[in-house]
Amino acid sequence: MPLHSQISAYFLAKISSGAWPPGMRLAPQRELCRLLGVNRSTVVTALGQLTALGLIEGRRGGGTRVADGRSTIRTAAGSNAVMNPADSGRAGNWNDYVEEGIHYPNLPTVQDINRLEYEPGLIRLGTGEPSPELLPGAAMNRVLAELSELRLPPLSYEEPLGNPGLRAAVSRKLAMIGIMADPSSILITSGALQGLQLIALGLLPRGSAILLEKPSYLYSIHAFQSAGVKFSGLPMDSRGLVPEHLAAEAVRSKAAMLYSIPSFHNPTGILMDAERRLELMQVTGSLGLPILEDGAYQELWLDNPPPLPLKALDRDGRVLHLGTLSKAASPGLRIGWIVGPEPVVRRLADIKMQSDYGASSLSQLAAARWLEGGYHEEHLQVLRGRLRQRRDLVLELLQLHCAGLATWNVPAGGFYIWLSLLRPAPPRKLFTAALRAGLLLNTGDLYDRGDSGHLRLSYAYASPAELERGIVLLAELIR
Ligand code: PMP
Repeated sequence: MPLHSQISAYFLAKISSGAWPPGMRLAPQRELCRLLGVNRSTVVTALGQLTALGLIEGRRGGGTRVADGRSTIRTAAGSNAVMNPADSGRAGNWNDYVEEGIHYPNLPTVQDINRLEYEPGLIRLGTGEPSPELLPGAAMNRVLAELSELRLPPLSYEEPLGNPGLRAAVSRKLAMIGIMADPSSILITSGALQGLQLIALGLLPRGSAILLEKPSYLYSIHAFQSAGVKFSGLPMDSRGLVPEHLAAEAVRSKAAMLYSIPSFHNPTGILMDAERRLELMQVTGSLGLPILEDGAYQELWLDNPPPLPLKALDRDGRVLHLGTLSKAASPGLRIGWIVGPEPVVRRLADIKMQSDYGASSLSQLAAARWLEGGYHEEHLQVLRGRLRQRRDLVLELLQLHCAGLATWNVPAGGFYIWLSLLRPAPPRKLFTAALRAGLLLNTGDLYDRGDSGHLRLSYAYASPAELERGIVLLAELIR
C-alpha cells in the first residue's frame, strides 16, 4: 500500500472505532509529518482522501477536525466501512466533556514535555528525575528476588495508612533526619504528588489560599488550583523564602497554609539555611499558620547534610512533611509519605481509600525491603557522588559557554540549576526553537507564570555526553 493510503486507513480506523470522536482536532500537518516520519506531500494526500470521504474537515482558524456528520463511507483501502448515522456521536460530544471537569489540564508546555520525554533522540536538559543509569536496577533486582522467596506475594489491599512494615521503615528513616514520627503518624501515598492532591482535597476549603515560594514546583501542577485554592507567591533570596512580608501577606490573603521546599528547592536549587528555618517557624508560629514541608530532595545533599527539616523543629504538630522514594530510588515505584498529626493523616487516608484503596501493595513491600535492607542508604552514597560529578560538569560547561548570556546558582544538592538569562526570552518561543534543535527545556514560566527570564536545568537526567552537546546548543539558542 502506498504510504498515504496506509495513513488514511489508519486515520479511518481511529475515526470509525470512535477513538477519535467527531470534532476532535488533529495535530497540525507539520506535527503529523514529524510523528509519522513522512514528508508533507504524503500527509496532504492522506488528509485529502479523508476530506473527500467526508471524514475530516478543515475549520477556519480551528485546524483540521474529525467531521461531525458521518454516513456510509468507502475506505481509502477500498473496503466499505458502514456507519450508522444514528450513532454518529452527536449525542455525546467528548470534545465538550474534556473541557469540563473540576481538574484543570496541565499547561500546554507541560503536556508537550510529558509527551516528548518518551521520544528518542531529544536531549532532556530539564527533566526532574534521575536518568535510568543512576537508578539502582541491580540492587532493586536483589530486593525483588528476596520478595519472590516469600511464601506468598502480597496481592491484597493494604490498611488505610499503608503497609505497617513500610511505615515502620519510614519512621526509622525519618528519625535519622530528626523527625520523630510513629508509624501511626505516617500515611503512605502514591508518590509525594498524591500527598499534595490529598491535602488540597481534604484539608483546605474552596476559596482559601496558600502561601508559597515564587517560583515553585507547585505552580507547574494544578492540584491546588483545581480544588479552588489560590496561590500567593513570596519572594526568595539565596537563603530561601524571605519571611519579611509573610505575616502581612498571610493576613491579606487569609492564608490557610504555607507550602515550602526548604531543601534544594524545585526549581531554584536553593537551600534554606538553619537560621531562616527558625525564623520561618517563629513567624508562622505567631500566626498559627500550618506548614506543608515538601522534603522531596532533602536526602539528596551533595556537599553537606542540610539543616534539620522544619518538621524536626515542630513542637506543636503544625508541620506536615512530605517525602518520596522518587528522587533517589525509583520514580516508577510510586511510593511517598505524609507525616502529620494522627487526625490529619487519618482524614487523608480516608480520602485515599476513596480514590485508590492504597498504593500498590507490591510496591509497598518492595519499598519496605529496600529501606529495611539498608539498600537505600548504600545507594544514596553512590548517587550523591555521581550527581556531584554531573553538577560540577554542568557548572563547568555553563562557565565555558554561557558566561555572557546568563547567571546561575551553585546548588548544594538536588537536581537543579536555575539559569537566569541576562536578556529575557519569550518562553514558548525558546521552547519550540530548542525542540527543533533537539533539546527539551523546562522554561521558567512553568514555575512562575509571568517569568520569561529563567530556565530550570537538571544535571540528573541527560548523560554527561548529552549535557556537553546540550549546553553548547543551548548557548547558541540563547544567543
Ligand atoms: N514535590 C516536589 C518538590 C517535586 O519536585 C516532585 C517531583 N517533581 C514531587 C513533589 C512529586 O514526586 P513524586 O510524586 O514522584 O514523589
